Amino acid sequence: MTTSTPQLIDRFGRQVTYVRMSITDRCDFRCVYCMDEEMTFMPREKLLTLEEIAYLLKAFCELGVEKVRITGGEPLVRRNVDWLFQQIGELKNSTALKELNVTTNGSQLVKYSDAMVAAGVDRVNISLDSLKADRFRELTRTGDLSTVLAGIEAAKNAGFKRVKLNAVIMKGRNDDEVIDLARFAIDNDMDISYIEEMPLGQVSHQRGESFYSSDEALEELHKEFDLQTSLAKTGGPSRYYQVANSSNKIGFISPHSHNFCDTCNRVRVTTEGRLLLCLGQEHSVDLRAIIRNYPGDMERLKQAIIDSMAIKPEGHEFDIKAQPVLFRHMSVTGG
Ligand code: SAM
Repeated sequence: MTTSTPQLIDRFGRQVTYVRMSITDRCDFRCVYCMDEEMTFMPREKLLTLEEIAYLLKAFCELGVEKVRITGGEPLVRRNVDWLFQQIGELKNSTALKELNVTTNGSQLVKYSDAMVAAGVDRVNISLDSLKADRFRELTRTGDLSTVLAGIEAAKNAGFKRVKLNAVIMKGRNDDEVIDLARFAIDNDMDISYIEEMPLGQVSHQRGESFYSSDEALEELHKEFDLQTSLAKTGGPSRYYQVANSSNKIGFISPHSHNFCDTCNRVRVTTEGRLLLCLGQEHSVDLRAIIRNYPGDMERLKQAIIDSMAIKPEGHEFDIKAQPVLFRHMSVTGG
């Protein structure tokens, strides 16, 4: 029986309505804050298949999940990803699902934007940390700025409900571009969120040295723009400011300086099907084992998800000075 009654409520009364699903740990970029230059990726047999991902998301949406974000690694480098978008898009007709969103580095958006919109993808978040071609290459190690800018243009024209930019700001690396990135977003009628660097996985720099807080970014932006506190919520952890005389918002995702745990409504699923109850803690449930050991037993899968609510922690405890806090990279966890 298909049911969409909310059933995912944790010990602290928080209802889980949002799943972020990482569909691959592979990426065509090697962003310095995200990955090491030499990465060992997961053996393919460990990854959930696209069919398993669609099945798992059906379970979540029948349990009351309203919003799904597909991420990675780079989700658009996974073969046949357009098939997956169609499967998830169809869940809007039969489950609680209302919104299907994708986070991408933009490199494949020229190819996929139209198919994504047709499948029912509502919003895309595109990572953009610099508008300078050399620096973009340095920060992403392999990325090409002009390809990503063409992808942003394609996304704008494809008819998504919203296209948003995400920028990770690092001290001494791109903190001088906070204003330029905001101006680019506004000129293109897009929102932008600034993300504080999180200590996930070992990378080649000391995280503490590159840390640049949202408050510093906000101070810079206030000098240039008339920003009003906005009550807008997109269901995610961003705090928003409205740019006066425009329809655009500037958001901040600040796990360090502004703890957002008390309103946490989300869980993550890793590429290998591990349900993570908190980005900053190790509490998890192996959903792949259930899917593979009990094929087609949807009730058992749903019960495991319901039971997992008992171990969702109250909050994460990031400490930027600890190296690293968690050994998993964001690419596995799903940003
Ligand atoms: N490849 C896609 C992209 O580039 O957006 C999706 C995956 S990526 C892991 C998702 C987001 O996480 C990106 O905006 C990226 O900048 C951010 N991210 C990755 N590692 C991070 C870290 N250590 N701290 C903060 N944000 C991080």
